[in-house]
Amino acid sequence: MNIGVLALQGAFREHAHMLKKCHCNVVEVRLPRQLDEVDGLVMPGGESTTIRKLMVEYGFPEKLKAFAAAGKPIFGTCAGLIVMATKLSGKKQKFLNLIDMDVERNAYGRQIESREVDLEIPLLGDKIFRAIFIRAPQIISIGPGVTPLAWYQEKVVWARQKNILVATFHPELTGDSRIHKYFIEMVKESVKSKA
Ligand code: GLN
Repeated sequence: MNIGVLALQGAFREHAHMLKKCHCNVVEVRLPRQLDEVDGLVMPGGESTTIRKLMVEYGFPEKLKAFAAAGKPIFGTCAGLIVMATKLSGKKQKFLNLIDMDVERNAYGRQIESREVDLEIPLLGDKIFRAIFIRAPQIISIGPGVTPLAWYQEKVVWARQKNILVATFHPELTGDSRIHKYFIEMVKESVKSKA
């Protein structure tokens, strides 16, 4: 089983490091054809406009849509979530359309660009999860097919729609691998269901 990390821009090294710590084979994906080698993909945070531009330049969109339609899991954090959302600030984002939600970029404002907060996430057990938000987006609304998995200040910050997982914060920047382990389980299940 291989897990890819989209390595165009942003925090891809940190995700790769975390996945390796969890004993995964990691492929840094720089070209669309490398998607054929991986069973799941992490789309890291960074600058969504840059990531979107590079994805188009390298020809990722169609290949990625097919990857998702085949049921292969994708985990987008922060900018990785932004590029997958169906809507940005109420307007349709005609791009990947992989998760049914309306997202507002940089929604926590300039004064408090980044923050670390303790989240209670029942799905992960009793121990709190320290979440790091960096110029984070907010999920303004979710479609009926989306399951919220964690909240911060009454906003959904971790969610899943079938094989697509998203977080508005950066779990790769903490020492806590529980969210990555959750994604690894999704990939394992998807591989098993195809065997
Ligand atoms: N603010 C960035 C954007 O809008 C996202 C920040 C991040 O990924 N940490 O693309």
